[in-house]
Amino acid sequence: MTENFFAALDRRVTAPERRYLTDNAGEIVTYGALLQNSRQYAQALTSLGAQPGDRVAVQTDKTVHSVFLFFGTLAAGCVYLPLNTAYTAHEVKYFLEDAEPAILICGAKNLPELAPVAKQGVMTLDSGDTGTIVDLAAMQTADFASIDRNADDLAAILYTSGTTGLSKGAMLSHRNLLSNALTLIDTWRISPDDCLLHALPIYHTHGLFVGAGTMALAGASMIYLPRFDAAEVLRRLPEATMLMGVPTYYSRLLAEPGLDKAFVSNIRLFISGSAPLSAQSHKDFQKRTGHAILERYGMTETNMNTSNPYDRERRPGAVGMPLADVELRIADPKAGAELSRGETGSIEIRGPNVFRGYWRNQEKTAAAFRRDGFFITGDLGRIDEDEYLWIVGRDKDLIISGGFNVYPAEVENELDAIDGVAESAVIGAPHPDFGEGVVAVVVPREAAALTETAIIDSLSGRLARYKLPKQVFFSAALPRNTMGKVQKNNLRQTYRETFTQDVGGTIAER
Ligand code: AMP
Repeated sequence: MTENFFAALDRRVTAPERRYLTDNAGEIVTYGALLQNSRQYAQALTSLGAQPGDRVAVQTDKTVHSVFLFFGTLAAGCVYLPLNTAYTAHEVKYFLEDAEPAILICGAKNLPELAPVAKQGVMTLDSGDTGTIVDLAAMQTADFASIDRNADDLAAILYTSGTTGLSKGAMLSHRNLLSNALTLIDTWRISPDDCLLHALPIYHTHGLFVGAGTMALAGASMIYLPRFDAAEVLRRLPEATMLMGVPTYYSRLLAEPGLDKAFVSNIRLFISGSAPLSAQSHKDFQKRTGHAILERYGMTETNMNTSNPYDRERRPGAVGMPLADVELRIADPKAGAELSRGETGSIEIRGPNVFRGYWRNQEKTAAAFRRDGFFITGDLGRIDEDEYLWIVGRDKDLIISGGFNVYPAEVENELDAIDGVAESAVIGAPHPDFGEGVVAVVVPREAAALTETAIIDSLSGRLARYKLPKQVFFSAALPRNTMGKVQKNNLRQTYRETFTQDVGGTIAER
C-alpha cells in the first residue's frame, strides 16, 4: 500500500461534505473540495514537468490555495519546500541553489526580484488566491491518482531557521509526517468535532504539520486566519475548540482586557510550543481562563517529541513526556552516554518522527546522529522525578561562568516570577575573569518600577551566586523571530561588550 500522506488523508475522508476550513471571508472548504483542489494542483504541477521526488519551492502568503498546493505537491509525489515570507530574494537564491527545485511559486510582487535568480519555472500565487498557478490548477481535471510513495520517500524539506551559519534543509519523509500526525491525534484526543483556530504561519512545522496536516487527518476543522492578531483571535475563540500558539500569542491574549472564562467556554484545549512558555504565563493564563495550557516540544527535524499529559497535570515550565512512539534520552553532550535521572544533558530523540538527514549535507547529518540512531537535538534538558522533561536551553546558549554551567532557562524562570517583570532573556557575555558573565535583559510590565538592585536582591535568595546576573539591562521588548523565539544571537551581539568595554576609564568588573 502506498505510504503517501495524501493517500492516507484520502482514505480517511469518509464524509466529504464536512468542513475542513472556514477562511477569513467566511467561505467554507469541505473535505471533498480539499481533495479535489489538491488533485488539480497535483495535475498542474505534473503538467509543468514536475516529477516525483522533485522539489516544489513555495514562498507565498498564507492563503487557502497554499494549503491545496501543499497537499497537491504530496499527491504528485513531489517534495514541498516552504519558505518564510520574510526571506529576501538574496536569501531565497541560496535555497534555490541548494535545493534545486523544479518549480518556484511566489507572490507576483516578488516576481521581478525572484525571476532572475530562479533557474526553474516560476509561477505565482497571491493573497487573494489569484495567480498563474491558481489559473492553471483551475483548468485541470480532478481525477489525478496520487503517486505511490514509500514511507521513507521525502514529503517535505524545511530549512532550519539557521541562527548560526547557513540554514540546513531538514528532509522529512511521509512516515515522519504521518506517524506524528496520528500520534498527536491520539495524544490530544482530536476528533472530527474539533475546530482549530489556526493563526500560525504555514511555512513552519508548527502551522503546517501540527496544525493543518494533523487536523486534516483527524477529519476536524479549522478557522483559518491569515495571521495572528490578538483581538481577532479573541473574537473568533468562541467558534473554536482548540488553539495552537507560540508563547507570544498567549502573552498577547493575556494583554487583551476581554479575555475571560466566558470567552473560552467552547475551548477544549490550548496548546503552546516552538519556544518556552514561561511558568508565569502558564499560571496567569490559568487564573484568567481556567485553562492549563498544554505545552509540547518539537522541532523542524523531528516534528513533535513530547507533550504534557492530556488528562493529568500540565506542569508549568515543563514540556511533558515523550509521545507514545518517540524515544527520548538525556545524554552526556560529548560522550553520548545516557545520564541518570535528574541530571542535565543533551536531549536525544529516536523514532518514526525523526527526519532523514540534512539535504545534501552528509557531514552535518553525520554529526547530528549518534551511532545508535539517536538524533542530537541541540537542546539541553533534564527529566524530573515524575517523568516530566524540562528544557534548560539550547546547547549553544549554555553559559559557562567561572567554570560553572548556568542554564539560561532556570534564571529566566526566576526573573519572570518577579513582580513587575513581563519577560526576560539571559545570555552570556565575554568576561575577563569568568570567561562568560551572566547578563539579564528584562522587559518590565507597564508602569513597573524595577531596579537592577531590586532584581538581583530578589534572585539572590533563590539562585546560587554564580547564576546571578552580573548585569541587568531593561528593554521595551525582546528580539523575537516570527515563531516567537528570542533571538539570543542578536542579544549576544548587542551586549557583547558588557564586561570588556572600558567604561569611563575603568573596566566593568561586576
Ligand atoms: P524549530 O526547528 O524552529 O521548530 O525550533 C525548534 C527549537 O525550538 C527546539 O529545538 C527548542 O530549542 C525550541 N522549542 C520548541 N518547543 C519548545 C518548548 N515547548 N519549550 C522550549 N523550547 C522549545
